[in-house]
Amino acid sequence: MHSVERIGRYRVERPLGAGAFGTVWLAEDEDLQAPVAVKVLADNWSHRLDVRERFLSEARLLRKAGSPRVVQVHDIGELPDGRPYFVMEYADGGTLADLIASGPPAPPEALRLTALAARSAHALHEAGIVHRDVKPSNVLLRTGADGARRVLLADLGLAKSLAEASGLTVAAGSAGYRPPEQAEPGAGIDARADVYSLGALGYELVTGTVPAEPGKVTPPERLRPELNPAVSRALMRALEPDRARRWPSAEAFAQELERLAGSGASSGARVRRRGRVVALAAAVAAVTAAALALAPGSAPDSGLRVADATGQIEVRVPDGWGRQLRDSGWNPDALGLPAGHEPGLTVGDDLSRWQDLGADVRGVFVGLSERGDVAARVDAVSHRGCRDNGGRDYADGPWKGRVRTWSDCPGGGRVAEAALTPSGSAAQPQVYVQVRQHGGDDATERILRSLRVT
Ligand code: ATP
Ligand code: MG
Repeated sequence: MHSVERIGRYRVERPLGAGAFGTVWLAEDEDLQAPVAVKVLADNWSHRLDVRERFLSEARLLRKAGSPRVVQVHDIGELPDGRPYFVMEYADGGTLADLIASGPPAPPEALRLTALAARSAHALHEAGIVHRDVKPSNVLLRTGADGARRVLLADLGLAKSLAEASGLTVAAGSAGYRPPEQAEPGAGIDARADVYSLGALGYELVTGTVPAEPGKVTPPERLRPELNPAVSRALMRALEPDRARRWPSAEAFAQELERLAGSGASSGARVRRRGRVVALAAAVAAVTAAALALAPGSAPDSGLRVADATGQIEVRVPDGWGRQLRDSGWNPDALGLPAGHEPGLTVGDDLSRWQDLGADVRGVFVGLSERGDVAARVDAVSHRGCRDNGGRDYADGPWKGRVRTWSDCPGGGRVAEAALTPSGSAAQPQVYVQVRQHGGDDATERILRSLRVT
């Protein structure tokens, strides 16, 4: 860790903690005379342009959520050595992980805290964002001006899920919190993934232990026989491996927890002795680490799976294509469709030259468009200077539509353009895909097959 005295205009006071991607510092905003927390991406990640982009898009998304239940991001920047950072509000009450380590709260309080975390997640969901890494160290406590304690959700799991998908090892702090669909390539992630993690959060707050892997969770009443069975049922419903059987939303889960916390039904339980809880947590951590060490390679298929910032689009690209990622959406106006801001991503080896058809670039663009006729727009595309190889109907796995290809572009490259809709009768989502290649085998089919839109 480098010793830092200033980060931009902020004077660094001390480290608050370090995670898989960097260090969080307590700093003083001298102009505003207010403490802030600054998260700096670690050296070893800052050269990964895709992770870097994710790190910053996380900051932008937190900002976009604009909810008092989500940590506020004030600023982003870059250190002279190139490491990016973002500046957020300082949570003076620490995290739920700190709270658990100092002895778990009494059950009604545990339920109330879980409900507040669920309401925070719901605020993100309403802004179209899935958190993907809800766990105690990402739930912050802050004392409001009125002295009341606020619960803030921090740290989206974007960079982490990208790093995991690419087969890179990331510290496994989230085991026990991860829903099964998050480990399954291409399953698609929605708000119910966060419902699972919120269930794990409630479970740990109530029982003092991290739940076992999905489907093998010990019912909470076996660990705490005095627990109200309704509390146990509510937690186990959030921890259902099959997301269709979970609480349908974080809000529904929050409402049930609030009802149970208010009913006094859970209040008979005793608070565990601190020593026991800490020992249990340590044992669970050791088991998790061992299991991960034995796990075979975490990337069963070759290539890199990437997703856009909303988590709606996922696609796998060949190794070496994934050096850069833009994941913040697109304006379908670029293709002659009605203007707007829709989910989209571009992943490639050199995005700075994406617009130049003559450049030696390998990559994929995927964009959704709710309106207009994507197939008609793709039919109208021309790539001057390239040989037009015509179009063909496409139907494979979840998608059908049309694919057009061009070769012998000025620098020798190839382009494929596709307009896809789901293989059933649904007309939505309409997906536009562009694949840029140079030499090598044609990867278009593989890429289209790997595409998932939720
Ligand atoms: P992971 O890398 O798995 O997310 P983590 O959440 O512990 O683990 P970081 O997100 O890097 O890692 O945060 C490190 C620590 O910094 C947190 O555990 C927390 O104690 C502290 N922290 C993070 N953000 C803030 C904040 N806004 N205010 C106060 N403390 C914070
Ligand atoms: Mg964190």
